[in-house]
Amino acid sequence: MSSLNKKMIHAAIRCSHQCQYCFSKWKKYRNCSTANDYTDSNLFICPFCDSELELQDYDTILLPIVEQAELYKKCIIISISTKSYLKEETLSKLQLVHEKLSRYGGFVKVSVTFTNKSYHDIEQGTASYYDRIQLLRKITTYKMKTSVVIKPILPFVSPNEYIDIVNDTCNFTDRFLIGGLYVDESTAFYKNYIQGKYEIVTREVNWLNGEKWSYVDSAIIQNIIKEHIVNLGKKVFDSEQGLIESWL
Ligand code: SF4
Repeated sequence: MSSLNKKMIHAAIRCSHQCQYCFSKWKKYRNCSTANDYTDSNLFICPFCDSELELQDYDTILLPIVEQAELYKKCIIISISTKSYLKEETLSKLQLVHEKLSRYGGFVKVSVTFTNKSYHDIEQGTASYYDRIQLLRKITTYKMKTSVVIKPILPFVSPNEYIDIVNDTCNFTDRFLIGGLYVDESTAFYKNYIQGKYEIVTREVNWLNGEKWSYVDSAIIQNIIKEHIVNLGKKVFDSEQGLIESWL
């Protein structure tokens, strides 16, 4: 599969949540969203964070993707990472899409994202910590792929809190994706939580064609979490692409 020509398609979808650190509303991210052209590659990964994925999304976003897979006989992977509590009805629709994409080697992956246990205020509108764990348990009853996403790692959250998240979720998946925090210096989140407290570096965003963004270096805490995951006999990934390719 590594010889295939891969392409990430970033759909500009709405999200009603208000995570204070969210980059999907930054202009510089919006400028990088790619057009939905499915003709020039063999494998497509469509990452979605986050959406309620209600009926209109199924018709306007997911069905056209299925149609493209069928039309071009392409391997298309829909990679959803959610902080919402997805209803049974939504999961059933996603399962249907998964079955259709499977005919061409694709699939649907629904990850549940956690960034903390104790700062729910910074993620207004999202499901509670315990509802997310219930969702993860529910997803395991479907055939779709799943994982836990611990991203972005927030520097003011303790390593022990992240270890707790891993312990609370490890019975429902063997795969974890972890990653750090990109920041925009003009946001209130940066001024309230980051400015003057943590080291900022410039980092290439390789899933956005090498754009350079400011990033909070969290290598030490990431290594603590990774070591714990590996000690539990689970797999840990640094990139969405690495996670997806682990199933191919
Ligand atoms: S769930 Fe939060 S981080 Fe994800 S797109 Fe919505 S506001 Fe942004």
